[in-house]
Amino acid sequence: MDTTTQKKLQQALEAELKKVEGELRSVGRVNPTNPKDWEAMPDKMDIITADPNEVADSIESYEENTGILKQLEIRLNEIKAALEGMKTGIYGTCSVCGKPIDPKRLEANPAAATCIEHAR
Ligand SMILES: [Zn+2]
Repeated sequence: MDTTTQKKLQQALEAELKKVEGELRSVGRVNPTNPKDWEAMPDKMDIITADPNEVADSIESYEENTGILKQLEIRLNEIKAALEGMKTGIYGTCSVCGKPIDPKRLEANPAAATCIEHAR
């Protein structure tokens, strides 16, 4: 891969990294005991005083946040791995078979870690 293409993909990855981190902050917070881990925001839950409907809503939104958070966390790790791969020089090669990943695929998803054949 030429450096111009990689630079372009790197910028796309860094932009997405910022976006995903921003979204993560809107639904969760970094686990104080493990900075690598994100946890969903409890969302102002007050079980003792809140009325039962509100508690149900709150639990629902907490569960929803947990789902969104999981997806975002996976994406964040993919982006970080791709950026790391650029440093170590493995970027753009399939993590399963080691063959170069189609540049069109990388353009569509700069964090792709596998060729089309080995895509999940
Ligand atoms: Zn492959």
